[in-house]
Amino acid sequence: MNCPKCQSTQVIKYGHTHYGKPRFQCRDCGRQFVADATRQPIDEATRQLIDQLLLKRLALAAIARVTGVSERWLQLYVNQNFYQTPQTIEVTPKNRVG
Ligand SMILES: [Zn+2]
Repeated sequence: MNCPKCQSTQVIKYGHTHYGKPRFQCRDCGRQFVADATRQPIDEATRQLIDQLLLKRLALAAIARVTGVSERWLQLYVNQNFYQTPQTIEVTPKNRVG
């Protein structure tokens, strides 16, 4: 969980919203915010697993299958975090019959 304003990880639980969502407060800048599950569907544990699999140079399609994320999201994630890794999704052309 990072502060959306200063990206600090020093955030503490700060009660709940009226809708029951946990509210947090940043200890560095004082910003209060609500964890937005719709904007961050991939949790930290999954990201760490993805990082490990990427380091093992698994194909993106395989990682997507293992972790349950979409290949589209995974490609964006790789572009943002592992841009130096020369690995892209290869589209295998289907064999034409007839
Ligand atoms: Zn902050």
